[in-house]
Amino acid sequence: MREADQRVEHAACPKGQVSDVGLDQITASGYPGRMDLIRRSREPAAPGRGAQRSVQPAKPATSAARLLWLQASAGNRAVAGLLGVQRDPDPVHPPEPTIAERITEARGQVTKGEIDGPAFEQYRTSTAGTVAEVAGLLWQNELYLVDVDPTGAGIDKKADKKLVADFKAFLQARVAKALTAKLRDLIKQVGTSGTKIGDQVEAILRESPMWAEGTVADRLFVAWVGPVPVSGRSPDGASDLWAALRRASAGSVASKRADHLSKTAVKALDAAEVSAVKTLLDPSTTWVVTPEDTADLTDKAAAALGRPTNRADGAWKELRDRMSTLILAAESDIINATIPQSKKHPLVPASWATFRNRYVATLTKPMWAFYRDNIVDAEILGEKVKASTDSSGVHKDVAAVLPLLEESAMRLGGFASKADLIKANQRPGSEFRFEAMSHPGWMGRARHLSFHGTGRAMDFRAGTNPDFGGPTHQLVSILGGGELSELSAGSTQQRQDLQTVATHNADVVRLRAELQKRLAAATDDQEKAQLQSDIDRIDAHLRDSVQTDATTVKVRDRATETHQKVKSIESKFLEAWATITLMRNFPLGEDLAASLIGEKVDAAAEAAKQALDAAVKAKSPDVGKIRDRIRRIEEVRTLLNNPAASINETNQRQMLKKVDELSNSGLTDMPSWMVQAFAERGWQWGMWGGFADAMHFDYMGPVADVRSDAQYL
Ligand SMILES: [Zn+2]
Repeated sequence: MREADQRVEHAACPKGQVSDVGLDQITASGYPGRMDLIRRSREPAAPGRGAQRSVQPAKPATSAARLLWLQASAGNRAVAGLLGVQRDPDPVHPPEPTIAERITEARGQVTKGEIDGPAFEQYRTSTAGTVAEVAGLLWQNELYLVDVDPTGAGIDKKADKKLVADFKAFLQARVAKALTAKLRDLIKQVGTSGTKIGDQVEAILRESPMWAEGTVADRLFVAWVGPVPVSGRSPDGASDLWAALRRASAGSVASKRADHLSKTAVKALDAAEVSAVKTLLDPSTTWVVTPEDTADLTDKAAAALGRPTNRADGAWKELRDRMSTLILAAESDIINATIPQSKKHPLVPASWATFRNRYVATLTKPMWAFYRDNIVDAEILGEKVKASTDSSGVHKDVAAVLPLLEESAMRLGGFASKADLIKANQRPGSEFRFEAMSHPGWMGRARHLSFHGTGRAMDFRAGTNPDFGGPTHQLVSILGGGELSELSAGSTQQRQDLQTVATHNADVVRLRAELQKRLAAATDDQEKAQLQSDIDRIDAHLRDSVQTDATTVKVRDRATETHQKVKSIESKFLEAWATITLMRNFPLGEDLAASLIGEKVDAAAEAAKQALDAAVKAKSPDVGKIRDRIRRIEEVRTLLNNPAASINETNQRQMLKKVDELSNSGLTDMPSWMVQAFAERGWQWGMWGGFADAMHFDYMGPVADVRSDAQYL
């Protein structure tokens, strides 16, 4: 059995898709997008939400030409105040300024820096927070060009069109510069604002029970800038400011979390208050996420406790201040009472507070409700999985399609009976699991729960189907003469096709269950016969379509091909490593072995470069894939050439040690029919993109109460 931390890698996503950068910004921010709970949501403009306008929008430009034009077009009253003069009793109507004149004037404003301050004001409350959006807002407001289409539409003169287009580019460049300058200035201020940030963190933790570092950084960004989202489209400096706020607050968040939720602190909470909150949360089917949710719960708890429910009341405010802590303590109690817990990773309030946002980002309802409604016992290839055992249990929508998998396994493995199948001893390990507190190491880096964490993944025999990634993965590929990272079973296309297959199967199985129910309730013989014949037809379809359905055939073929390739890479790798190991026994053997490995890596790099040249010349779609291959090979070379280097938390010594271990375990002992059976029922085998995990299968069908955007992550 491997150490838990080595198994943490059985994550939900192919490693290549997981990046540490910005993780917390998006979903770990805690207010998942599809809940409409991003920063711009229904939160009150409470302290900590800042966004006070520090600079008033610039006064409109007051050139005489504009005023006279306004006066002429809009009437005297519109501008009398501005002009501070009486209307000329016999006004001379000046001509409306031309587009050229207006653009020239606007350009003057921009050049003088008049829009720099307003640009930041527009930015902090803008919807997408892009330079283009801010420039557009300035165009309409501060620059009064609302009637000039920035795309040049409706402008007759070609020269004017060009003037408008050039000015738009000029404006955007200036806006980008101004926003970045302001953001960089704020980053500097973060460095000297330790105490202020500590106070802001305290206030943020009081607002809601979303206590992860990323969430807090997100809320700090709101306080420092505004409710504008931070994304890859943000102006330069925004992500850096967010990261600076996260760095500056992380220590304070962790220590406050530990303090407020220590054993002693939790014990000191008012038992009646904890109990009231528990009673309210236990049957609830929604998460408490926002400050407003937290205030609403305070109202209910106050009412239940017979205390003032008036939000202006001092006692209400005190209860509100304690509510985040009460929620985290109460939720921990409910989870511990409902879901069997692993002794290895006990759920305590402080760790719940650390990882809670991953659960919020993945499950549509609180995890105890998710468990009660979805996690069930099951039997798979003869192995019983029990929901009442810790780290065990299966999602009910997965359990519903497991019989199909067994049927496929029997057909493809050539077993006459289920007893024969069981005798083949291809049973899952203890890893078909639903977990309350899953591998903290992995969860610390992930946005969502893994497939295991939601009862949708299965592992077999970790000892002979080990997981490994990064440079180790690549060195095995080089020695084995094939690219583990480029196997078709790990492709995006395969994942999409598996989703199609699994979704179709799930629909048919659901329909079958409905017919079965109607059959059980039917009394009329003719109706019964009809229903039975429908069910028989469905059974025939489920049995036979795997042989003919085009998508099913494709996913099974990719799995078969991948299995063959892995076995071929495995045998060449074992052969090469045996030679290397033999060499080590000779005098100077270590050097010989090292140079043999080096030669193989150099040869792989050379071959990849030639493949790239050919692909570029042929304008092949494989160019990107080959570039990735070259990058991976270079990582291996870096580790081999520099014993002090480390990539993906692996150094030279660790890489070679792991490769040696793999030469003992092999890469996989999975029979081909197993891989095929899972594939044709919509299960993904093993990851492969930069990461081998041959023990692992993910169910790619939709399941209840997992957020649709977290379904396949
Ligand atoms: Zn796994």
